[in-house]
Amino acid sequence: MLPVIALVGRPNVGKSTLFNRLTRTRDALVADLPGLTRDRKYGEGKLGERDYIVIDTGGISGDEEGIDKVMAEQSLLAIDEADVVLFLVDGRAGLNPADEMIADHLRREQKSCYLVVNKTDGIDPDVARSEFFSLGLGDPLTIAAAHGRGVSALIDLTLDEL
Ligand code: GDP
Ligand code: MG
Repeated sequence: MLPVIALVGRPNVGKSTLFNRLTRTRDALVADLPGLTRDRKYGEGKLGERDYIVIDTGGISGDEEGIDKVMAEQSLLAIDEADVVLFLVDGRAGLNPADEMIADHLRREQKSCYLVVNKTDGIDPDVARSEFFSLGLGDPLTIAAAHGRGVSALIDLTLDEL
């Protein structure tokens, strides 16, 4: 069984961008439109000799009704299926109430997870991550999924812990 990594977070934080980078496909729809990915999407990633499964999800916005509710359910199912969750937040937009809701859920589930601050290109990563310590999920890691910075180190760390 390959290890399963789920990408979770509110819409527009860069989950599909990271998924595409990890799977080297353009399969997940990346767009400026929040919440475009409405179902779980599975891909295969490889780091060195290590293969893994990665799941892209729609976002949890904290305001779940209609299609947003379905997307949130998909995210919860992905969390269940995963060996480890990468919880993405937006280092440019800053801390958001929906981030706190997702963090609460992950802490309750006692799921193995990493807090990942994305979009840290062109800004100070240490400043960007500082406000996310309050989520209580440990040291935030910083990446720029669109450019690839920090991504291999993140996956290396994630697979090492499994
Ligand atoms: P999702 O809704 O979480 O799947 O987010 P997407 O992957 O669709 O990305 C949402 C927007 O953020 C898109 O416009 C991406 O190009 C942009 N984005 C994603 N990663 C980065 C990044 O590392 N840096 C910057 N500056 N923008 C990013
Ligand atoms: Mg997406």
